[in-house]
Amino acid sequence: REQTDPILSLDKINVSFDGFKALTDLSLRIGVGELRCVIGPNGAGKTTLMDVITGKTRPKSGQVIYDQNIDLTRLDSVRIAQSGIGRKFQKPTVFEALTVFENLEIAQKTNKSVWACLRAKMNSEQRDRIDEMLVTLRLQGERHRTAGMLSHGQKQFLEIGMLLVQEPHLLLLDEPAAGMTDAETEYTAELFKSLAGKHSLMVVEHDMGFVETIADRVTVLHQGQVLAEGSLQEVQANEQVIEVYLGR
Ligand code: ADP
Repeated sequence: REQTDPILSLDKINVSFDGFKALTDLSLRIGVGELRCVIGPNGAGKTTLMDVITGKTRPKSGQVIYDQNIDLTRLDSVRIAQSGIGRKFQKPTVFEALTVFENLEIAQKTNKSVWACLRAKMNSEQRDRIDEMLVTLRLQGERHRTAGMLSHGQKQFLEIGMLLVQEPHLLLLDEPAAGMTDAETEYTAELFKSLAGKHSLMVVEHDMGFVETIADRVTVLHQGQVLAEGSLQEVQANEQVIEVYLGR
């Protein structure tokens, strides 16, 4: 895929925790419609990077420009979510006591309270959108099941669907394939590739097989800095990356 305008542009981000530098002069661009994988050893700063984008952590300095002109460092996390940035944490967080359909219904109307949501009538367009989403997630047969009864992988899919019904521009996903079966991982890869283009995705992942299947470009973080960037083949051939991963 060709490089496009950035949907997200981080410029010289610095984050410190009690003097410890978690991110140092980190600059990163994600193109519109791109599927970017971010890899790196534990403690590299991957979670902190996501926290900065979503407003959970404020950088000491630097800018995070979204959609050409919105500086996310000036917005709170609610505003950031409302501006079309969806985040999925590693562990699925669905409403276990509600059905699969109800989970998607609530996600679709995030501006209302849970109960107001369930009482409010849905229009047919909203219902159709959820029906389509159930097919995409391969959860058609589970629509009336309680989410707590789903397998781990199905909960992951449901949560991805809960993000998608909010029609985000940028999706941030933390180890989406963790704990999935091989078949589920394969379908997740297929799903992400089909989402790229319409959405921009940033995926933190340890499973290199998964990264190889999905990534347009890979960014390697190490000690709070970008160590390398390029295709997976390019970064895997990078001497510094080899050193970090193999400790040579
Ligand atoms: P990764 O997600 O790549 O494993 P993190 O972003 O979680 O890395 O962490 C980067 C570094 O910052 C680590 O050394 C971690 O211990 C430190 N760190 C992260 N969050 C905090 C915090 N709230 N307070 C102190 N140190 C933190």
